[in-house]
Amino acid sequence: MSSSFPVPNLANPFSYETYLFDADGVLWRANETVPGAVTFVKELLEMGKRVYIVTNNSTNTTEEYVKKVTKLGFETLHEANIISPNVVMVDYLRRHPHYTEKGRVYAIASGGVVDTLHKELGVECIGGGPDHVPLNSTFLNSVDVSKEVSAVVVGYDPHFSYNKIMKAANYLLNPSCGFFITNEDATFPGSRKDIVVPGTGSITASIRAVALPRQPIVFGKPGEKLQNYLRESLDLKPEQTIMLGDRLDTDISFGNRLGVATCWMRTGVHKEDDVKRAIEAKDTDLIPTYTFSFEEFYAN
Ligand code: PLP
Ligand code: CA
Repeated sequence: MSSSFPVPNLANPFSYETYLFDADGVLWRANETVPGAVTFVKELLEMGKRVYIVTNNSTNTTEEYVKKVTKLGFETLHEANIISPNVVMVDYLRRHPHYTEKGRVYAIASGGVVDTLHKELGVECIGGGPDHVPLNSTFLNSVDVSKEVSAVVVGYDPHFSYNKIMKAANYLLNPSCGFFITNEDATFPGSRKDIVVPGTGSITASIRAVALPRQPIVFGKPGEKLQNYLRESLDLKPEQTIMLGDRLDTDISFGNRLGVATCWMRTGVHKEDDVKRAIEAKDTDLIPTYTFSFEEFYAN
């Protein structure tokens, strides 16, 4: 890091009570741990600190996440320590049962969403996988879109297609059909620095566009639903809490809106120049309180 970097280093990394870690780009990148992350989390847990992984990745169930983090070496983290858009969505749908009353939702998503809704709420997701159904007479003329599903859920879907946009748009013509989005990360870190990996936000943008003037409920960072979920379920004390993340528009914005300290980690999507740009633009939503590197901390 250059010495002129305008954000202070996190000088007392163990001084908080509650640690909210973004996952990809902070604790790991794809399937490799970020150097120092396992040791840092282990030390926090040994000190009796509260540690949560607050990820925008909805492609895994929390059970699968526990397997993943255990395999990576974060051995003492359990399902209760993992908070993803799926967790917040289930909590919301339990409080609003009319969105699941038909027992069926249209999901532009992948396994984590499908399995979570099935396991936690007994809801069937239709629409998964490639969609080769011709849209002419079969869908638009013969299906009564207003009756078939009680919600449209949009997340990461590698089989996303024009067909799916059209179906979502038509289901959403029914005002009582829920409109839910897991997260809106424009890009994902990926393992290669020279390649852009489109994120869920690139998919949700088209569904948002076609569904106007309807507005979705978003369950991931930096949204209000997740803020409220954490405030209520964790009994957060903002002055004793820190959010550590790599993306300014999801993680840092989320922590700032939650009213906790924020720490930009240099191992993910956003770079020093992005932080400098936010500072120059005086975009307080995106400006972190601190920066930190596990690797530098343990090297010193
Ligand atoms: N969603 C998907 C499908 C991802 O692959 C990723 C990161 O790889 C994310 C969301 C962002 O996750 P996080 O909030 O942990 O950085
Ligand atoms: Ca991240």
